[in-house]
Amino acid sequence: MRWEGRRQSGNVEDRRGMPVKGLALGGGLGTLALVLFVALLGGDPRALLELMPPPATAPAGAPRTADPQEELLREFVSVVLADTEDVWHALFQEQLGQVYREPTLVLYTAQVQSACGFASAATGPFYCPADEKVYLDLSFCDELRTKFRAPGDFAVAYVLAHEIGHHVQKQTGYTDLVDSQRGRISQTAQNELSVRLELQADYLAGVWAHHAERAKQILEAGDLEEGLRAASAVGDDRLQRQAQGYVVPDSFTHGTSEQRSRWFRLGLETGDLTRAKLLFELPEERL
Ligand SMILES: [Zn+2]
Repeated sequence: MRWEGRRQSGNVEDRRGMPVKGLALGGGLGTLALVLFVALLGGDPRALLELMPPPATAPAGAPRTADPQEELLREFVSVVLADTEDVWHALFQEQLGQVYREPTLVLYTAQVQSACGFASAATGPFYCPADEKVYLDLSFCDELRTKFRAPGDFAVAYVLAHEIGHHVQKQTGYTDLVDSQRGRISQTAQNELSVRLELQADYLAGVWAHHAERAKQILEAGDLEEGLRAASAVGDDRLQRQAQGYVVPDSFTHGTSEQRSRWFRLGLETGDLTRAKLLFELPEERL
């Protein structure tokens, strides 16, 4: 995928290396900034320092030794996120007459607290509708290549675009539609709705790629195949919040590999946002 030199999104929240229950402001730079701020206002920063809690055992926000490979990956996902912002802003305005709300991408290491509960990297990337954030441990990108045998940068772009697709669904009402049925219909019917939601997110990832390609010529030879491979390889990312507040992958299916790559491809070929509703109109056997 061609991505170097393009805008990086400002909506990336970097929580890598931070302890899960660490302080939001933490010690280090946060405290320093606050102390300087108080001093600038003519206050006595010593009074403030006495009020500050002792630093957490693992200092939150401590400078991390930057792994060049991982930094490149961070830049890459920031560019892809910016590309999704550009495409969805335009499509929301042109086709829906709505203003697109930009989601946040949270980068974390090993485990993370979301408004949907606690999650570990084993969960895989996920979107939390309650805080409108996508959660990604960058080590997943390695897993795509090794565990899921879906190598290539466009495989990563597809996964991110799929999660952003879930955000688009939140804004277009499909998430609520499916949630509102929970507990009112059979488990089988509920699972079928979940599959429709997942396939629609795949379709929306394709719609994004179509428009990003038209505007910026992002695709290189082999990218489509990388995306399709990832679409069919990546397992379940539908999440369920357990009573104890833990997020675990649930047992719902995303649809078959064939369905996933077919809907992704259809979105990519047509770029037609209005057709996304088909995923909730077609009978099950035509999905
Ligand atoms: Zn999904």
